[in-house]
Amino acid sequence: MYRWISCNRLINEVTKEDKIFGGKYLIDPYQKCDISCLYCDAAEDTIYIKYNAPDLLRKEIKSLKKATVIIGSSTDAYQMIEKESKITREILSILLEEGFPIHILTKSNLVERDIDLLKERDVRVTFSLSTLDSNLSKLLEPNAPLPSQRLEALKRLSKEGIRTGVAIFPVIPFLTEMDIEDMIKLSREAGASHLIYEYLELKGDVKERFLHIMGKYSPEIANKLRELYSESYKPKGYNIDDRIKALCKAYGMRIGYE
Ligand code: SF4
Repeated sequence: MYRWISCNRLINEVTKEDKIFGGKYLIDPYQKCDISCLYCDAAEDTIYIKYNAPDLLRKEIKSLKKATVIIGSSTDAYQMIEKESKITREILSILLEEGFPIHILTKSNLVERDIDLLKERDVRVTFSLSTLDSNLSKLLEPNAPLPSQRLEALKRLSKEGIRTGVAIFPVIPFLTEMDIEDMIKLSREAGASHLIYEYLELKGDVKERFLHIMGKYSPEIANKLRELYSESYKPKGYNIDDRIKALCKAYGMRIGYE
């Protein structure tokens, strides 16, 4: 279900140093997300569309410094409803008209629609992947374009001269770690120059929902995850940073936004 809402404020300022997305301001055109990833707390039945976001942006932009604006860090700015609402497109037009650098994070190839706006500008687009397995992707990210479609979109944007990257969001212990090398290799071949990643976090209701569905997919992996996340919402003791660093070095991929 979609609800169109009027909000009082659009732009949030990054308060602590942001090493993941590399920006100063955050804009999320939507509250919650219809891509409905199994591991995400933004996946909800009701999606709120900030219909007055462009008007707010025109007002709030006057007090901003010329620094990078991150689009879609909490909820995907190219989720399914964007095809109809075009709010993200309007926001991008305003920001680019005013000369703001932009970093977009998305799981959707709908961003290809806006290539005309994004090319030849100070823009970066980071495509989020968690697996390369189409069937697993349909289970984990039911309304997202397939990983192959995201890689195709990444390639197309890169060919248009738009700087691209890949985000392994999230690295899922035991389940998707075997895909990491190919994710880095294929996204590099498609033109991505940077990689960011985060380990799966299982908070609140998401934990039981995720582990329940994993239990049906692979009881063995579900049991290992249950143990790994028994004391914390983070994977305690699990760390493959060195392997990811080595793979990035081998394939010429930079870790981090800058
Ligand atoms: S696309 Fe991103 S914001 Fe949307 S449900 Fe998936 S992880 Fe959450």
